[in-house]
Amino acid sequence: MMSKLKLLLRTQEKKELSTCPICQSGLEETTVVRKGIKLHGFKCKKCGEIVFPSSEVFKYEILSGKKNVREVRRVGNSIVIGLPKALAEEVGIKSGDLAYFEGKGKEIRVDIFKK
Ligand SMILES: [Zn+2]
Repeated sequence: MMSKLKLLLRTQEKKELSTCPICQSGLEETTVVRKGIKLHGFKCKKCGEIVFPSSEVFKYEILSGKKNVREVRRVGNSIVIGLPKALAEEVGIKSGDLAYFEGKGKEIRVDIFKK
């Protein structure tokens, strides 16, 4: 008998960085090196706060070895998102299980049917 698990994929809008989140002053482009990884960010002209767009945060997490970030890729006619192995194991998703997709607004519901 098949058992069923549910996944929910949600999209996050890219946030534009135009003002400092601390003091609302203007920002200027800057480059910061953290653990040898070059990151493009924005520095507040008034208070010096440095903010990074989400793409740079994810780049840092991927390059510094953090586990739960994956790049969305295209393979043939499909868009592919790799599940981090530890997370998949935690909920019991295995290679060969079947995924059924259903879109609704900005979300995709995925039902995983285990063989
Ligand atoms: Zn500021």
